[in-house]
Amino acid sequence: MDTCERISVVVPCYNERQALPCFYEAVRRIAQERKCLKFEFILVNDGSDDGTEQYMKELAAEDERVCYVSLSRNFGKEAAMLAGLKYASGDYVAVMDADMQDPPELLLSMYDELCHGEHDCVAACRGDRNGEPMLRSLFARMFYRIMGRISDTDIVDGARDFRLMTRKMTDSILELGEYNRFTKGIFGWVGFETKWISYENRERVAGETKWSFFKLFKYSLDGIVNFSTVPLRVASFMGMVFCMVSFLSVIFIVIRRLIFGDPVAGWASLICVMFFIGGIQLFCMGIFGKYLACTYLETKGRPVYIVKESNRTSSR
Ligand code: UDP
Ligand code: MG
Repeated sequence: MDTCERISVVVPCYNERQALPCFYEAVRRIAQERKCLKFEFILVNDGSDDGTEQYMKELAAEDERVCYVSLSRNFGKEAAMLAGLKYASGDYVAVMDADMQDPPELLLSMYDELCHGEHDCVAACRGDRNGEPMLRSLFARMFYRIMGRISDTDIVDGARDFRLMTRKMTDSILELGEYNRFTKGIFGWVGFETKWISYENRERVAGETKWSFFKLFKYSLDGIVNFSTVPLRVASFMGMVFCMVSFLSVIFIVIRRLIFGDPVAGWASLICVMFFIGGIQLFCMGIFGKYLACTYLETKGRPVYIVKESNRTSSR
């Protein structure tokens, strides 16, 4: 009987033709170190146009442990990760980036940690943000601080998507069928015992990051909308505060008119107040709109991704 434990390594790839060979070689070497472990590679091609798909096919032809899943277009990293998790059949499932920013050598120590049986997941977080632009770093910190306050879900600062999970945790993640996926939140939401290991930030080995500042900004807004309803409450709270202020102002003006006989002067300040309140109203409508848009996309029930081609059938 085969008693080897199986590890599936899920790798979302978008235009990673340059980085992928390096990554594959590194993980292959790690896999050789432990003969008692069976590795499988789930390479998800997220609509790349730089020959990544062709390279995946070549790898799959050479190495039977390689499974490639090609999506019909670029659906984004979240969708690519979900597709990979669905194809993974291992007892343990790892999620890793293709650019070597997630050190492959950590995989084995993660596995050893899981073997003790105390944890269901070992996840990596960056100990520092060296090499990251200052503005990006500042906003990222701010995002995690706000998230920590307004969401019940544990979202750790500096957490990567890089982690090794048990089959039980992977299955729980797959049970969440939402369309708007914010995986960092989903990992925390499903619970289970997670052990964090910290490592030094690394530069990507080749190619360039797919995340512009605005993409990250949008991503963080999605995170907030998906894992907190506090902004909605803030909107109604602001509404209440403005009602109170206007009520008190009316009383103040009426009393001043009756006692001192002052006519109300100053249309300039009036216009400023009107603009201010108009701005707040539009801002609140924006918040409602964001939640409504998410609900709209959810109710359409569209698939999160579409598979164009693969050398295997999905395990679910
Ligand atoms: N990625 C993806 N689809 C996308 C964007 C990124 O599959 O639309 C993959 C990318 O190929 C990489 C991982 O997600 O393996 C992380 O991307 P990147 O290195 O650009 O992000 P960063 O490390 O800069 O946060
Ligand atoms: Mg990267």
